[in-house]
Amino acid sequence: MLATKTRKMLTLYQIIYRNQCMSRLYLPGREGGMGLSEVNHQHRATIVSIGQYIISSCNPKLMKIKDHHENRESSTTSIIKLATHFGKDCLTNRVENQNKPATDIAYKKYTSSIEEWSNHKREKYLPTELSQEYIDRDGSRDWLKRGSLHYDQERLILAAQDKGPLTNAFKKMSCLSNNNKCRFCNTEVESVGHLISSYKVLLGDGYYTDRHNGVCKYLHWKICKCSKNPGNIYPNEQLGMTTTPFTMTT
Ligand SMILES: [Zn+2]
Repeated sequence: MLATKTRKMLTLYQIIYRNQCMSRLYLPGREGGMGLSEVNHQHRATIVSIGQYIISSCNPKLMKIKDHHENRESSTTSIIKLATHFGKDCLTNRVENQNKPATDIAYKKYTSSIEEWSNHKREKYLPTELSQEYIDRDGSRDWLKRGSLHYDQERLILAAQDKGPLTNAFKKMSCLSNNNKCRFCNTEVESVGHLISSYKVLLGDGYYTDRHNGVCKYLHWKICKCSKNPGNIYPNEQLGMTTTPFTMTT
């Protein structure tokens, strides 16, 4: 309807002539066409793309949406039924998995992004480390997948992993300053690694030990949970910690 009105207006203003071949209007200029965008086609192409996205996804929430559109929506409102109708021979039944998106274009983008990240001058260290044999790749990325951290905490960890914070070492490397010494101890180079785990004053004040103990406490709790040993747990001398009990609630 909109396309018909557009063509009527184009004819009225003599941009096209009456009964001109419609296909030529919508072909790109390099093919000798007029490069007009066909609203109806754009609408159908978008529905086919969304339908393909829902069909291929292995996300549990999208699988529920897929089920709903396949079995409960009518043929005029179901995205999947409309996509199947509009996109004959264009849809694929492949389902994505954790390592391979379903469509070729998504897979191409996925592999090129991994490659670019692995070759990035500053950020390549994490992907390189993650690809080592001794690393549990899924376990190392689980925290991101679960998304249970506040975005402020998440971005801080991501930035530290990418060596992104504006440390003095980074400033000197980028020629923003001549001094790369730590702003706190003023003796060692201020790198992300130095601030996170080798700043002597913080070590002396026990901050690193507290964090270390927190990790041990969590591991201890997890191990006890796995061994089905509920009740008060005393993460004591063995772990070099205080004897404050904490109770498992789940
Ligand atoms: Zn320092």
